[in-house]
Amino acid sequence: MNGMFAGVDLGGTKIAGALADADGRIVRTETIPTQSHEGPGAVLARIAQLVADLSGGARIDALGVGVPGLVDLGTGTTLFFPNLPTQWRGVPAAATLRGRLGCPVLLLNDCRAATLGELHYGLGRGVRDMVLFMLGTGIGGGLVIDRKLRLGPLGAAGEIGHQTVLPDGPLFGCGKRGCLQGVASGPAIAALAMTFLEFIGIFLYWAYWTRRSHGPKYGFAIGLPDNPTTGGFKSSSLQILRAWCSSNYR
Ligand SMILES: [Zn+2]
Repeated sequence: MNGMFAGVDLGGTKIAGALADADGRIVRTETIPTQSHEGPGAVLARIAQLVADLSGGARIDALGVGVPGLVDLGTGTTLFFPNLPTQWRGVPAAATLRGRLGCPVLLLNDCRAATLGELHYGLGRGVRDMVLFMLGTGIGGGLVIDRKLRLGPLGAAGEIGHQTVLPDGPLFGCGKRGCLQGVASGPAIAALAMTFLEFIGIFLYWAYWTRRSHGPKYGFAIGLPDNPTTGGFKSSSLQILRAWCSSNYR
C-alpha cells in the first residue's frame, strides 16, 4: 500500500498538521495558530489550507483530525467542543473538509486519536490492553481492550477525567462530584494549594493581630518575637505575609 495520509490535531491555540506515508512515517509537519475566535468555518478553511500546504497540492488518500471534544463518529459532525468559541455544536466538519480536499476525512476525539497512535506506533505496540492518560488543563484518555480502541456509542469511552474518584468530593463544572479531573488536574492541584496557603495566611494574620492586641501570651502558636518590626527573619516573613493578607483580607 502506498500513498500519503494527513493527520491534524485541532487545539484551542494551535493546529498541528503532519503528512505521513502508508507505514506511518511522518515526512512533513507544520503548525499554525487556530485563531478559534474566527469561528468554525474559518478554522476549517485553515485546516484545509494547512493540509494542502503539507502535501504540496498533491492528492492525499485520507485525512484524520483529532478534535478537542465529542464528535458524531458516523457523520463527522461535531457535537461539543467545550473549550472553543461557539462550542462547535452541529458543525459538519468532516463533510466540509471532504468537499475542500476531495478525500475521505475522519474525525476523532484528540485523546482517543493519541491512544490509537500509541497503540500502533508507540508504547502500546507490544500490549493487548492499555489506558492512556492525557494530562493537561484537564485529564483525557483512551481505552484499548484486545488491541482495539474502544469508543462506545458516543465516542466517549475512555473519558477518564470524569471518572468519580471521591464520591463526596468537590462539585465540578460537569455537574458531578469528585471527578478525577476536578481533583487531580493541574488547575485543580493549583487551586488546592492556593486554598491551603490562604488558610495559613489567615491563621498567621489572626495570630499576629491577637498577639499584638492582647500581649505576648497570645498568638503563641507560631512563637513570634515580641517586637515584630525588629525581630529578624521571622518578622520579615511576617511582614510580607501581613502585607499579603492585608491586600486579600480586609
Ligand atoms: Zn466530571
